[in-house]
Amino acid sequence: MSTHREQREALGGYALGHGDDAERAAVRAHLDGCAACRAELAALTPLRARLAGVDPDRLDDAPAPPPGLGDAVLARIAAEQATAPVPLHRRRWAPAVAAVGIAAAGVVVGWAARPVPDPLPLEAVAVQVADADVEATADVVPHTWGMEVQLSGEGFTAGEVYRVQVTEVDGDSVPAGEFLGIGPGQLDCNLNSSVLREDATGFEVLDSTGTVVLASDF
Ligand SMILES: [Zn+2]
Repeated sequence: MSTHREQREALGGYALGHGDDAERAAVRAHLDGCAACRAELAALTPLRARLAGVDPDRLDDAPAPPPGLGDAVLARIAAEQATAPVPLHRRRWAPAVAAVGIAAAGVVVGWAARPVPDPLPLEAVAVQVADADVEATADVVPHTWGMEVQLSGEGFTAGEVYRVQVTEVDGDSVPAGEFLGIGPGQLDCNLNSSVLREDATGFEVLDSTGTVVLASDF
């Protein structure tokens, strides 16, 4: 007679389709009379379906699972074996390995199947610089929430606060954030405005006195 504990430990392997006919039949027979094991199997089964849906070609690009996951799995197995010595023929099923392995696989599958955002469309825009010390280029990104300005340049006076504003079709200027000059070094910063790309006609960078040091007309 198989016990509830033995059959419960076998559920991970059962969910993955492991085991010979007799072992699977034993699990099924136990499931008929044990609601707790049926519930556990029901919780494991969706993970199996997710494993089946994985595109192996995408696994190569999958980010690594969280650091320490392997150690956690091994520790869990060690603890399980320490508290519950099981006969050798049962270890073949390695229930703890199967159960934890399925959970770990779920984590990896979740990583692999996470939505990968499309690269943002960058639009290079011309920049007119009014300050001879400044060199700069800019791209804009049309987001659903507004327009992002990606500004790269050098020669912005170190320690000076620069203000960026986007010009709207109707001529209004809308703040898009500030940045601090860092002198001759390369400066890359992203500035966000609530103005949609189609409503924007350009942007300006003003120094702390309000003088336009850089402008872009789209
Ligand atoms: Zn049971």
